[in-house]
Amino acid sequence: MSQLQSARDVLANVFGYDAFRPGQESVIAAILAGRDVLAVMPTGAGKSLCYQIPALVLPGITLVVSPLISLMQDQVGALIQNGVRAAYINSSLSERQISLALYHASRGAYRIIYVVPERLMTLHFLQFARQAPIAQVVVDEAHCVSQWGQDFRPGYLQIEPFIRELPARPRVSAFTATATLDVRKDILRLLALQNPFEATTGFDRPNLYFEVRRGGDRDAQLMRFLQEHRGQSGIVYCGTRKGVEEVTRMLVDEGISAVGYHAGMGDEVRQQAQDDFVSDRVPVIVATNAFGMGIDKSNVSFVVHYNMPKDLESYYQEAGRAGRDGEEAVCCLLYQPSDVRLNTFLIEHSMEDNQLEAQTKRVVLERARERLRQMTFYATTKGCLRTKILQYFGETPQNTRCGHCSACLAVRGERDVTRQAGQIVSCVLAMQGRYGKGTVVSVLLGKRDARIHERKLDRLSAFGCLRDEGEGNLRAMIEELIADDVLELTQGEYPLLKAGARAMETLRGDEPIHMAFEVQETTGRTRRQPVIDKVLFARLSALRREIAEEQHVPPFIILTNATLRDMVVKQPASRREMLRVAGIGENKLERYGDAFLREIKRYQAERENGHARKV
Ligand code: ADP
Ligand code: ZN
Repeated sequence: MSQLQSARDVLANVFGYDAFRPGQESVIAAILAGRDVLAVMPTGAGKSLCYQIPALVLPGITLVVSPLISLMQDQVGALIQNGVRAAYINSSLSERQISLALYHASRGAYRIIYVVPERLMTLHFLQFARQAPIAQVVVDEAHCVSQWGQDFRPGYLQIEPFIRELPARPRVSAFTATATLDVRKDILRLLALQNPFEATTGFDRPNLYFEVRRGGDRDAQLMRFLQEHRGQSGIVYCGTRKGVEEVTRMLVDEGISAVGYHAGMGDEVRQQAQDDFVSDRVPVIVATNAFGMGIDKSNVSFVVHYNMPKDLESYYQEAGRAGRDGEEAVCCLLYQPSDVRLNTFLIEHSMEDNQLEAQTKRVVLERARERLRQMTFYATTKGCLRTKILQYFGETPQNTRCGHCSACLAVRGERDVTRQAGQIVSCVLAMQGRYGKGTVVSVLLGKRDARIHERKLDRLSAFGCLRDEGEGNLRAMIEELIADDVLELTQGEYPLLKAGARAMETLRGDEPIHMAFEVQETTGRTRRQPVIDKVLFARLSALRREIAEEQHVPPFIILTNATLRDMVVKQPASRREMLRVAGIGENKLERYGDAFLREIKRYQAERENGHARKV
């Protein structure tokens, strides 16, 4: 049997999938043929299988260098569930346990061994590695070798010397989701890859729906979003620790089950929060960007950014934690102009106690500012969001409207706003350029608050003149008028709204002004999943949780949501049919097949007798 045929068998029998995802097969073929590989694939594309399948087809051992303990624990846990002999070696084990693991390893107990890079050059590990039949060295998160990335990890520089220590050079494969050219060059050079097969899978994640919600009150926006996504599991990212605490409190007060997570919390509390979220006990986690690296929960249905991050790299990485199981998921960014000010401040201050020389500092600072500009463009553009992301990562999408983001689905219209524009200008003139946007909007809307009363602004003739427009529209119009030089916003901490160069012609109404306006469609927004039997899904998911708790592992390691869903759709009645469910391989059939078959049968019988209960 050809090796590639064996690879397909492993895919079906061990992992329970019937087809490769884009990019997987060619990478696997290259590794099997003995070549080095550099594979750049986005999160969720299925990188692990690309080296795990060759590991099971090739004779010998596969070493996987990986940066994070939690990540390897999940990976090894998932492999064991599929009946693969795997182990990890890292500082969560005692020296004695490590010796024991290496002893077993040298006697051929494991096909796949995960190891942190710092361990490689230790005497003990080298001794083991020099006499073991190592067929493949895999470098996971390979961008950690590059100083261009944010995740530079000095230990990664030991990988190449380690490989040279081996009596026979194994094939080396490197995997990352970071695509920039500088990082790729570093990976090729610092790992000394030899004539590698290079694979780049598109960066698109078709199952993610992107949306930006602008203006209005952030808290109200968030609450509305969470109402729309009730019962789903997701992450809310906040820009600051304080933000995490306030938002968590608000959600809990509103009766939403949520936990907070940031680096300033005690280790124990933080670990508990993470466990609650990963094991599906609490559906929503509110976190700073400290949360996520190394967390491998695949059934995250949404990621909301309460604040805009500093660049699209961060945004796409964090948002990309949604939908790793391939299910439909939503990535929503809440944007307010104050986000730009906060990020500018953070960028400038991050440079202050930096040891870089002045010239380098200037370059680094300028790059950071440019990245922020691009991020802001994403948050404010009327163009397709997916296209913007893909272009940023160097791709040229064939279609510049994806049809699956909030910009593409916004219903556009145009209206004549010549009269309204004139009224806005006249109001700004009457207020003599002494107030900010918020106050101007309040006057136009005719809001009577203490401040307005005190300043006698309610006596202006413009007071309440655009009361029917609504705040969102007014703000949008003012933004457009600023962009057209009709109005001007001053610099500084409290920007003031003044008349701009083209104020007078607008006041006279010389030329009609048209503005595009958007109506957000709220229905038919996401490509709907096929309707499935929710009651059965809930019952199977309860069974999964029971099994997970018995084994002290997160539920998605037992079976992913995608697998449960497929099971609900197919409702297998026999072990043979069970094997056709995506994600059920021979080992999982053996371990859990009967329990799930029983539950399905019981459910069907109850339904026939007309008393299927909800759990
Ligand atoms: P990455 O490391 O690229 O972020 P993973 O390797 O964690 O992605 O894979 C993401 C999910 O996709 C996992 O649940 C995995 O089991 C699943 N998966 C991988 N390959 C396939 C495939 N060919 N068919 C179906 N599901 C797959
Ligand atoms: Zn789009």
